[in-house]
Amino acid sequence: MSQASPCLNCGACCATFRVSFYWAETDAAPEGSIPQHLTEQVTPHISCMRGTNQKPTRCVALLGEVGEAVRCSIYEKRSSTCREFIWHGENGQDNLDCQRARAAHGLPPLPSNPQGPGLIPIIAA
Ligand code: SF4
Repeated sequence: MSQASPCLNCGACCATFRVSFYWAETDAAPEGSIPQHLTEQVTPHISCMRGTNQKPTRCVALLGEVGEAVRCSIYEKRSSTCREFIWHGENGQDNLDCQRARAAHGLPPLPSNPQGPGLIPIIAA
């Protein structure tokens, strides 16, 4: 059973952190997917989503209102950084950066580990 994701009503992470990744994740490289025109170069090898290397921070690909209703306009093409960022509580894992981003936008914390931290199945003898 999949968990209900709070992300469609949040978007705080996309409007808090610099979203950087190896430059070859952009479509400037043969295997890349992220539209290069939505990125900026940080170092010779690292790029980031435009809008996330500044204050106030907001990824150029983020649509909607943070804390209300949001979506990523390049969801299928987003970076590994975006794909790997879990929401706090996803699959029973904590992500304090998620909580930090929510707090920065005045959003309440998500509950910790709704499935319990590291549940160990008990096998009856
Ligand atoms: S590319 Fe999409 S998921 Fe990644 S930071 Fe931007 S809006 Fe968020």
